[in-house]
Amino acid sequence: MVSYFPYIFLFLSVSFKGFALSNEAAQIACNQLASTLGTTLIENSTGPDFNNTVSAPRNLFNTQINFSPACIVLAQEASDVQVAMKTIFQHEVDYAVLAGGHSANEGWDNVNGGILISFERMDQVSYDPQRDTITIQPGVRWGPAAVALEPQGVAPVGGRVDDVGTGLLLGGGLSFLSQAHGFSADNFVELDVVLVNGSMVTATAVNEYADLFRALKGGANRFGIVTRYEVQAIHTGKSEEKTWFGGSITYPEDSFEDLARAISHFVHDNVDPRAVHLSNFARVGLTTTATATLFYNGSTLPQDIFGEFLSIPSLSSNLTSLSYLDIALALAGTSPLGQGTLLGAKALIGGSSSSDDSTDQLYLNTLHLWKNLSDSFSPSEIAISTLDFTPVPISQISYGRPESGRGGNAIDPPLVGYNQIVIGNILPVGVKVVSEEIEDAVRLFLEQAPSSPGIPLFINECDSNQEVFATYGGYDFLKATYAKYDPTRFNIRHTNGPIGL
Ligand SMILES: Cc1cc2nc3c(=O)[nH]c(=O)nc-3n(C[C@H](O)[C@H](O)[C@H](O)COP(=O)(O)OP(=O)(O)OC[C@H]3O[C@@H](n4cnc5c(N)ncnc54)[C@H](O)[C@@H]3O)c2cc1C
Repeated sequence: MVSYFPYIFLFLSVSFKGFALSNEAAQIACNQLASTLGTTLIENSTGPDFNNTVSAPRNLFNTQINFSPACIVLAQEASDVQVAMKTIFQHEVDYAVLAGGHSANEGWDNVNGGILISFERMDQVSYDPQRDTITIQPGVRWGPAAVALEPQGVAPVGGRVDDVGTGLLLGGGLSFLSQAHGFSADNFVELDVVLVNGSMVTATAVNEYADLFRALKGGANRFGIVTRYEVQAIHTGKSEEKTWFGGSITYPEDSFEDLARAISHFVHDNVDPRAVHLSNFARVGLTTTATATLFYNGSTLPQDIFGEFLSIPSLSSNLTSLSYLDIALALAGTSPLGQGTLLGAKALIGGSSSSDDSTDQLYLNTLHLWKNLSDSFSPSEIAISTLDFTPVPISQISYGRPESGRGGNAIDPPLVGYNQIVIGNILPVGVKVVSEEIEDAVRLFLEQAPSSPGIPLFINECDSNQEVFATYGGYDFLKATYAKYDPTRFNIRHTNGPIGL
């Protein structure tokens, strides 16, 4: 305690200048935290890490250009988060949590005048062969996690892009391993959770916090702060084990409609969980192409599963034998940092390739609406415009059902294969505001593009105005569980996140 004193003094003496933008309660809370945890963990705007932390979110609109926290908490241990939340709760302060910083929604991972809890110093991942589980600290990113675990031949069901972080798990999570192992969150074994009042609980599928455990699989940032994820280890093999085959095929615009049909059919017809698919239509500058990313856990891409994708006229492809590590890093570097981003989610069931299914028309409508939207922007307004489809097959959904013995998830879709759809619009480098025209055009797309009734939207890819929770099979459960764990609605009153609870 004595050794902290000079730092506390320094902090208090500069804090009143640094806190000009923050409210009084936040200033008091920050000063209290600085005296409890010390100024290596609690920094205001004069601290050495402050600028980097506040600029870390991927979306420019979540960085310093819009946000100035009263102070940041650079947590090193779960107990630091407990102390922070106790203080935040006591003083009724606004707060946000920052993990990998990939949220597209403004204010979901940064805060103005409140307290930002950053996990950048809690970035360890380890494998326990006895329990056959992986322990993930919340500051971990999926690329480094895959690299660190490869020597042991295991991997978590994580994300598909290397620099995305663990916030992905709380939204459910879509992985290249999901077809065979469920949503990423279906692989939770144990979670340490700091509740809004600062108390800590450990939740599992079978203990007294089983409801919280389930709610954290899709409930995003509303149910507490997770300080430790223990997840099932998947035995994916080492980098020399080329047990997969695949890569990407790039298509010209003339092939777009055929690709849209193939996307619809794949999620309806395929029942093999070893088959993985992700398709992306993209306008970058003035060039519009589409890419299907296809993997199979085997020595080739079987014709009866991937034949439609393989027969569509294409521009190029890079199909080859791959290790799981190759797959985990296949999309590395595809996520531009520091540019303004807008996302929005839709979901469509698939149609059969063996009948004249009107479902295909919904895919074509979605494609045409996106094409009109992206064509309406000049490259100086929107640098990159995308439309992505990720299949959620029945094999994946079944892992989130209570019968699976994993405690269920909150998303709880019906047992029918569907595609999660996301549109993304990324502004050019340096553009700091979204025009009303762009916002209106994206809003109109989200109103007009079809979604299949009863199919859940994906919170990790939504626009903040979308009522995603209301589309979950577990919506009533989610509302009741939220009321139980946060009876004063502190989280909703003090942090931004999904609406509808
Ligand atoms: C380029 C790109 C690729 C993507 N690829 C995928 C993909 O393959 N699969 C997929 O499912 N999603 C994907 N997403 C969506 C991504 O999963 C979400 O944006 C996710 O929320 C990002 O988590 P994060 O930790 O990186 O971001 P952050 O912005 O740090 O966190 C996201 C949200 O979770 C909250 N949060 C984070 N950690 C905690 C915690 N420990 N406790 C409580 N709340 C917490 C944050 O406060 C914030 O509201 C992608 C997004 C981008 C931009």
